[in-house]
Amino acid sequence: MIIDAETCTGCRRCIPYCTVGAIKLNGKSVFIDQDTCVECGVCLRSEVCQVDSIGQPELSWPRVLRAQFSDPAVRHPTGVAGRGTEEMKTNDVTGRFKEGEVGFGFEFGRPGVGTTFADVEKATRALAEHVEFSKDNPVTLLIDPKTGRLQDNRVRRERVLSAIIECKTSEEKAVEVIRIIQTIAGKIDTVFSVDAINRCVDGTIPVKKHLDKAGIHVRVNGKTCIGLGRPLADI
Ligand code: SF4
Ligand code: SF4
Repeated sequence: MIIDAETCTGCRRCIPYCTVGAIKLNGKSVFIDQDTCVECGVCLRSEVCQVDSIGQPELSWPRVLRAQFSDPAVRHPTGVAGRGTEEMKTNDVTGRFKEGEVGFGFEFGRPGVGTTFADVEKATRALAEHVEFSKDNPVTLLIDPKTGRLQDNRVRRERVLSAIIECKTSEEKAVEVIRIIQTIAGKIDTVFSVDAINRCVDGTIPVKKHLDKAGIHVRVNGKTCIGLGRPLADI
């Protein structure tokens, strides 16, 4: 996103609209820090500028990734709008996570901090040998799933509002995966949360006993399928 210095009056009204603090003051004029801007489109869509000084130039690769991951109005090549797949959280239609498996979602940059793909890659590289990455996830599309490395080095410096790594492993390996993430957490320069998804059996959450034993506290949330999705796979 850019601000037209010729027409901008310097009124500052747009500054608080930026999701990541990229609209900055330089003396009396206002500009958008291009390194910080994640191309979320909020400043433009809000129509806060009375003189139409905010504009969206055409984005080329790899900068276009910023908009694809940060602006819900921009379509991602995977067809997934935004950062991750809805199916990860509902496990509703495809039955992605079978009994004995644990799904993981690592949500980088939320809320309101943002992340670079360099930080996302630290996690995908550390996880690669231990998990199976979800095929239709926007982050997976950018990496070599065997090594977790970004396929295009230029992507590393791109910043987005958030990105979700989605993957799965066995219940027995769930603790190992969390330990790996704990090991690299100090090297990651943003906030992130960890979602673990496990199919209930007889009213219990099987992976919880492994996590409890390892001293890993989890907050249990429920997503209840009310039959709107028709399962396409056996569980
Ligand atoms: S596009 Fe988003 S990140 Fe960029 S300046 Fe506008 S509100 Fe801020
Ligand atoms: S709202 Fe428009 S005129 Fe005011 S500072 Fe922002 S870009 Fe400039």
